[in-house]
Amino acid sequence: MVARVCSVIRLHDTARGEVVPLAQRTPGEVSMYVCGPTVYGPPHLGHGRFSLVFDILRRYLIWSGERVVYVSNITDIDDKIIDRAAAEGRPWTEVVEEFESVWWDAMDAIGVLRPDHDPHATAYVDRMVSLIANLIADDRAYLTDDGVYLSVGDVVGYGLLAHQSLEDLIVGGGDREVVGSSQKRHPADFALWKVVKPGEPSWPAPWGDGRPGWHTECVVMSLDLLGEGFDLHGGGLDLAFPHHENERAQAVASGQDFAHHWMHNGFVEVAGEKMSKSLGNFTTLTELVERHDPRAYRLLVLQAHYRSPVEVTVETIAQAEAALGRLDAFARRTATLPDAEPDAGALDRFRACMDEDLDTPGALAGVFALVTEVNRLLDAEDPTAAAPLAAAARSALDAVGLDLRDASAELVDDDALALARARDEARAARDFAAADLIRDQLVAEGWVVEDTPDGTVLRRP
Ligand SMILES: [Zn+2]
Repeated sequence: MVARVCSVIRLHDTARGEVVPLAQRTPGEVSMYVCGPTVYGPPHLGHGRFSLVFDILRRYLIWSGERVVYVSNITDIDDKIIDRAAAEGRPWTEVVEEFESVWWDAMDAIGVLRPDHDPHATAYVDRMVSLIANLIADDRAYLTDDGVYLSVGDVVGYGLLAHQSLEDLIVGGGDREVVGSSQKRHPADFALWKVVKPGEPSWPAPWGDGRPGWHTECVVMSLDLLGEGFDLHGGGLDLAFPHHENERAQAVASGQDFAHHWMHNGFVEVAGEKMSKSLGNFTTLTELVERHDPRAYRLLVLQAHYRSPVEVTVETIAQAEAALGRLDAFARRTATLPDAEPDAGALDRFRACMDEDLDTPGALAGVFALVTEVNRLLDAEDPTAAAPLAAAARSALDAVGLDLRDASAELVDDDALALARARDEARAARDFAAADLIRDQLVAEGWVVEDTPDGTVLRRP
């Protein structure tokens, strides 16, 4: 099959180590697979970041006129799920049910579109068993006392995503017993199938009941739903090796054309440390969306390049919330402008940023410059000039999934509006005690009171 060069976007490809045009198998369509969560606990901030990064890419491609087929899995069988169920003395299926529900709640809260397909690993075990059977039959995989392993030694290009040779990858890990069976042929060989241990859930297989390895789940589900040679495989940078490397190794060993482009996003940092559950130093995504405007995390993610680290702290979230306040004030101020075609030059500049490796910081800076210019034109009472620029800013924000709150003027009743004006007058007269009293009254009536360059703005929380 001949891959066509997509005219929409250039993206960094981890395999090639450079920014290249995203090639499309089918013109006008982008097929993408993003590794989803293992549902054994509440999602952490890193989950939020990768979900937002790929949601932003997906939405931007759709906004650009592409059809996107988006697949993201749920890993619903894993050691961590089994361990939690055992520790809490309840069925593993109950753990899965609880945390899958928590996952979707968090995704909905941060405005991540649901995938077109959300395959669950346990629904694909029969297809995983047949892939493994074929690999064993071809002598690309072999049995040990604890499972089935892929022989990586003769996988062409193993180490492509890690950018290391097989020899380099095993330096320091020479002890064959460190991971997996002592019967492994090569230290880097990895488990496709784990033979059942007492008390664990299992599925039948010709070589012994058990369950699939994580790397086998994703290669089977992505190829099943997207077909060979799909366009883009993504996830957090921590998945590049070994998870994605090992998915690819199975596709190569079974003679299947796998993903043509690999995209990985950078880490989330809290107080400078790499975000990781094993470090135990995270605030969950669920906590973040309960305590803050959930849109703030999307804005924070947009303001960093997707391959750079993002620092998620109370301070950076507060800064993002302040920036959101500016955008919401803009939305309210421009809500009554006459309809206008978005300014073409402004949208071209937005696209130029996005198309060059998803430069969202550059794209957002352009949007904020538009907001400033629109405010200046409205101050100068020139709504005709402001309208196309405002429309361009709105369109750009829509493209990256950032919703604005502009349901304002008509929802604020006359009494509240009169209080807001009275507060502005008190502030203008430097009678801050009176202004604070009015503010307290408005807050007591359930309003969020914002100070903007245009005076007091009210909204419902
Ligand atoms: Zn995966």
